[in-house]
Amino acid sequence: MAAYAGVDLGATNIRAVVGDESARELGSDTQATPRGPNGIAVTEAILDCLRNACDDADVSPSSVVAAGIGSIGPLDLAEGIVEGPANLPDSIGRIPLTGPVGNLIDSERVYLHNDTNAGVIGERFFSDRNPDDMVYLTISSGIGAGVAVDGNVVDGWDGNAGEVGHMTLDPAGVMTCGCGSDGHWEAYCSGNNIPKYAMQLHTEDGMETSLPVESGDFDAADVFDRARDGDDFAQYVIGQVGHLNAIGIANVVQAYAPLVVYVGGAVALNNPDAVLDPIRDEISEMVFGNIPDVKLTTLGEDIVVMGALASAITDGTGER
Ligand SMILES: [Zn+2]
Repeated sequence: MAAYAGVDLGATNIRAVVGDESARELGSDTQATPRGPNGIAVTEAILDCLRNACDDADVSPSSVVAAGIGSIGPLDLAEGIVEGPANLPDSIGRIPLTGPVGNLIDSERVYLHNDTNAGVIGERFFSDRNPDDMVYLTISSGIGAGVAVDGNVVDGWDGNAGEVGHMTLDPAGVMTCGCGSDGHWEAYCSGNNIPKYAMQLHTEDGMETSLPVESGDFDAADVFDRARDGDDFAQYVIGQVGHLNAIGIANVVQAYAPLVVYVGGAVALNNPDAVLDPIRDEISEMVFGNIPDVKLTTLGEDIVVMGALASAITDGTGER
């Protein structure tokens, strides 16, 4: 039996799975992502996690045929590294990935993707229809997309295509993005930024609310909870977020003509109706051409690591 490996390098956790050629999971491991002292420490933790997953699967690392890696960015695909990840301390710097993983499994078949591209590969592989044209969108601490067009996963020259969270959606640029630019999609709609956007909307509108908008001591989950409990202002915020998400997805649909858009990430997974319903309602009014299905990811929190495993099995394509 041939064994394959998938690795998910996230800002919080590292996960590894070992599976067979049908992506049946044989073993796994999870570790906290080291926050220092440097990138090599992160590489060592990845190798340790992968060794543990191999132990759990009762296979030796050198018998693993191929590995896929879904990673936080920014990537340098030619070097096979992450360079200066945005959500880890600056001291992390460069994280070598493909070289050390290839050495561990004694194989040159190591496929590196940004995490949303691993996501679209996973959705493609595990979907009944194995669609050639599809999008995986994550709405979590940030927003990003993985796109497959005509059966090709779009990487961009350096591996950082699909950073759609940094598309400008607000010409007034009211909110400033974590990247420093104004008006970007994720400055309004990511889990990290929904509370800040709520505070901004409250200064404009002044509606009564049970949210502590003066102190700012609340998170995105609180906004969704209060909206469910009937707080008019929280519902207004979620409505605005939904409208911007619909505009963002409509723009992505217009550019790539997917048959289906899968949505994942913690914000969507924890609030599927509140996130997906406004998108489905509004994109039909916005999109010129085929209206794609908009679905919640079927792979939940496992999407990146299972997408990485699917990449290993399919030479980086997700094509069954
Ligand atoms: Zn930005």
